[in-house]
This record gives sequence, structure tokens and C-alpha cells, in this order.
Amino acid sequence: MISVEEHLATILAAVRPAEPVRLPLSDCVGLVLCEEIRSLVDLPGFDNSAMDGYAVRSADVEGADPAVPGSAVTLPVVGEVAAGGVATMPVALGQAVRIMTGAMMPEGADAIIRVEDTDGGTETVEIRAGAAIGTSVRPAGEDVRIGTVVLEAGSVIDARRVALLAATGHGDVLVLPRPRVAVVSTGAELVAPGQPLAPGQIHDSNSHMLEAALTECGAVTTHRLTIGDEGSEVIRVVEELAGQVDAIITSGGVSMGAYDVVKEALRDSGTVDFVQVRMQPGKPQGFGTVGERRVPLFALPGNPVSSYVSFEVFARPALRTMMGLRPAGRPSQKARLTHQLDSPVGRTQVARAVAVRDDAGWHADPVWGQASHFVADLSRANAFLIVPADVTHLAAGDEVEMWLLDGDRARLTAWPADAEAEGAGGAVGAVGAAGSSRGLTHVRADGSAHMVDISAKDVTAREASAAGRVLLSPQAVTALRSGGVPKGDALAVARIAGIQAVKRTPELIPLAHPIAVHGVSVDVDVADDAVQIRATVRTADRTGIEMEALTAVTVAALALIDMVKAVDRHARITDVRVVAKSGGRSGDWSES
Ligand code: AMP
Ligand code: MG
Repeated sequence: MISVEEHLATILAAVRPAEPVRLPLSDCVGLVLCEEIRSLVDLPGFDNSAMDGYAVRSADVEGADPAVPGSAVTLPVVGEVAAGGVATMPVALGQAVRIMTGAMMPEGADAIIRVEDTDGGTETVEIRAGAAIGTSVRPAGEDVRIGTVVLEAGSVIDARRVALLAATGHGDVLVLPRPRVAVVSTGAELVAPGQPLAPGQIHDSNSHMLEAALTECGAVTTHRLTIGDEGSEVIRVVEELAGQVDAIITSGGVSMGAYDVVKEALRDSGTVDFVQVRMQPGKPQGFGTVGERRVPLFALPGNPVSSYVSFEVFARPALRTMMGLRPAGRPSQKARLTHQLDSPVGRTQVARAVAVRDDAGWHADPVWGQASHFVADLSRANAFLIVPADVTHLAAGDEVEMWLLDGDRARLTAWPADAEAEGAGGAVGAVGAAGSSRGLTHVRADGSAHMVDISAKDVTAREASAAGRVLLSPQAVTALRSGGVPKGDALAVARIAGIQAVKRTPELIPLAHPIAVHGVSVDVDVADDAVQIRATVRTADRTGIEMEALTAVTVAALALIDMVKAVDRHARITDVRVVAKSGGRSGDWSES
């Protein structure tokens, strides 16, 4: 076995930046500029107006002052000029020209009077405020002088630099092109998403994931194929693609099974090596070059999580090198673990986690499913945790190296449409600073907190139900079902804890009103991998009872965890939410 660093070093030694090409600006975002760029024009290109108004001679309007009655000056309007036009009339002594933002200054004028400081006249104009020479005039060359260097070679082009390139007259520039990449999924079991599955078949997710990952890193997928488990087909496809693309990525067929065709077919090529890397997931890896152009080929493992991790750890740095970018593209941070994490002996673990930042720094919550087939938990994650080969256990609170997969944003989520109305922090998962600047409905402008007065609302019968789950190991489920939890009847304790909690809700939740609770039921149901908890709470009052239902579920879940922790240290609360409510002004609602 070789280390992650050794395998990456082999890969990076085999790739080099592509030949520069000249591309139109619209194709350049994210690419590296290969030439020094000088401005072809002055910016602004000519003296022009910063305002809609009137071009005048400053001396003519000197005395005008809105605070002094009778000081306004009336001038004849001798012409008009809009952006893109050229003033034909010079402004002589005692004259004005009507002018629009961006229009060229007429000869003779030295200041602009904003239209707001005039009567807006077209024959004559009454000017109510004076202006010093140069007021609201944008002088030629103030921003950029013709011939000056505006961008150095090596700059990465983004939207702001595209603005500069376009403004300085460059319609195309010399850049390192996007690598053209072919993606090949292998496996007789694979069916395109959208197509029905026969028994034993699965949807091909890797080729779509790899195409998306390539787009995210700035490369372009020119071919996306799904082939079966025939060695001859692997060889034929790879030979054909090698003449057409800059890199090839395959998935599947590289481990120890009977149909590991990619490995069997390409091993004999002599130019692709198959190795075991001390990494989890992603131990089996193939890499080499193929064809006359010595195109790099990455043979990634088939399990979706292994494939994605392998792309990030090995293929992405190589593609970035080909694009002239720093190979290590993901920002690395130190984070504190919210849960303990076990890691295999002698292998660098790339664990998936949800990263959030608060005032104390970054926290990483490892996702529940760390096995290499859990795509749902992969999609929940926004970070990799890099646990070194010699570390086998990290406790909650320990520091760990983290790669942020979405930059330093929280997991990408559209801002919920009703977030503004609710005054909610949104579903983004960011905590702390992001929410605090938005203000709170229960804090007055002077900063004092208050509880909203609900005395004018109608008393109505109200009911709310909430639900949630505690995910448990099979051992814990068996113990619950057989009554074998050492501490006693965990389910009964959870039910009682939920009911007790309802009565304490306003003490726990700062802005919740105390209301009379007329009825509570807490149901617990043992499923194969979890306990489902559901609570229903009733009242007749002026405000809702959803918080009480949520408290019941949450505290019942906590009590359950306390009861089973001797048999399951990883019990985890999830999916706590309101599932139904009735009564009150906002009407009835239920989840389904
Ligand atoms: P393999 O390395 O080919 O044995 O694949 C390992 C596992 O990953 C198997 O369970 C495959 O069914 C699965 N797998 C392989 N390729 C894909 C793919 N393109 N999309 C989703 N799963 C895949
Ligand atoms: Mg396979």
C-alpha cells in the first residue's frame, strides 16, 4: 500500500498545464490569464456627465443658493445631449445644455447642475444651486489611462475582471483552456437515471456526479458513457477517447471482485498502474497515461462516495494543475468535532461532515453514514475531515483538519421564501452572526426585550403535533424490543419525560407565552433502526402550542438517549418537526 501523498505526487508529476488558447470573454470565467493586459482606451474615454442635468459654466451660476430666496439663475437651454451622442452646440457664456448621465461634456461647459436643483425646463432653465468647476463631471482617464497594465498574466478571471477586460476593449484573451474530460461508468448493473430498474440494477450516479464535479472545478465533460463489464469494450473505449480528450475518468471495476474489468483490461497496457492507497474510502486506485498524447487516466472505485472522494483528493488537483491553478483548491480549516469519530488503523480517513461556524470558530458534525455507499449522507455534507493514518479515535471537542467543499459557506440552500416574514434565520445552517443582524420582533428599537401582547387575539381551541426520531443501532433496538435495557423501561421514561417537558416549555423557550395545557399525548414506536416519537398537545388559548409539541418530542428523545446510552453511544436525534396544527388565525396545516 502507498500513502495518499505518494499517490498524489505520482499523479501531479504526470500532468502539466495545457497550451494557452485565445477565447472570447464569455468562455473565460475561472480560467487563468496567460498574457499581460494593457488598456486599449482611456476610462472614462472622454469627459462626461455623472448626472442627468444641465451642463453650464460654473461662473454663470455662482450666486444660486437654495437657501437664499431670489438667488436662482435662469439660462437659455441651447441644446441637448444624451449618452452616446456628441454635443453640437458649445456652451457659451450665460447658456446651458441639457445633458444625460454618461453623455459627453459640451465644449465650454465646466460643471453639471443636477436636474433636482432646477425646474427641468427645455427652453430655459431655472437653476437653484451653484456648482464649483468640475462638479458632477467624470474626467477622461480618471479610472484607467490608455496603455497601462490592468491585469497581470496569472490572474484568475472572474466576473469583476471580465468587467475590466470588456471595459478596456478586450473581447478575447489568451488563457489556459478547460480540460476536456471523458467520463466512463463501468458496470453491467447500471441504468441511466429516469429509466426503470430491473431486479439487481441500479441507477448510474457516478457519471453524473463526475460530470457535475468537473463543471464545478472548471473542466468540461465532452463524453459521458456507461459501459458494461467487458474488458474488450473498456480497451476499445479508452483507445478511442485517448485521441479526443485531455483526461479520462472511469469509475468501478478496480477492486478485488470477479468483474473488475477496468483493472484487468488496463493493467496490461503497461502505462496504467493499479495501487492500494492507505485511504478510506477509496483504497483501490488506478492512474496512468494512455494513447500517443499520453492523456492522464484516473480509474476510480465504483462506490459513489469512494468515487467522489477519489475525485476530490486525486483528480481535482490534477485538473487544476492542467488549468494552471494551485492543485489544493479546497480551503482547509481546523474544526472542533461535535461527535466522536473512529478511524481505521493505518489509513487516512476522509470522513464527511456538516461544517458550521459560530463565534467560537468552525465545528464539524460527522454525518451518520460513513460507509462508501451512503449517497444521502454524502449530499448532506459540506466538508471532508482528514484524519491522519496514525489516529484511530477522536473525541467530541477534538480538533481536526477540515476541507470546506463549498468554500466557507454553509451547505448551499436557497433562502426560504417565507424567511423574511417569519424573521427566521433560514435553513442555511449558518449560526451566529448571520442571524443577529436581521433584528428580532421581540426586541424594541431601544434594545429592550418584551413579550408580544396577545390579549387582543381570540381564544380558540388549538392542537399541534410534532414528530421526531432517535436513530439507534440494531443492538439498542433489540434491547428495547426485548425489555433488555439495563436502566429499565426506556420507552415509558421517554413518554413521561415528554409530558413533563410540555409543562416547562415557556421556562425553556425565551419568547414563548405560558399557556394552559389541556391535554398531552406522547407516542413512541420502535422501528428497525430508530424510535419514532410523536406528541400531540391541546389548549384553548390566544397563541399556538407548536413549541410545546416540539419540546415534548425533543425531551422524550433526550430521555430515551439517556436510558439507552449504555447500549448505544451513537444514538442520534433527527427530523424533529411540527407535523400538524389546527386552530388559530393562520388556520389548519399538516405535513402530508
Ligand atoms: P465495483 O468497484 O465496480 O465493484 O463497484 C463497487 C460498487 O459501486 C458496486 O456496488 C457498484 O454497483 C457500485 N457502482 C459502481 N459504479 C457505479 C455507478 N456508476 N453509479 C452508482 N454506483 C456504482
Ligand atoms: Mg462494477
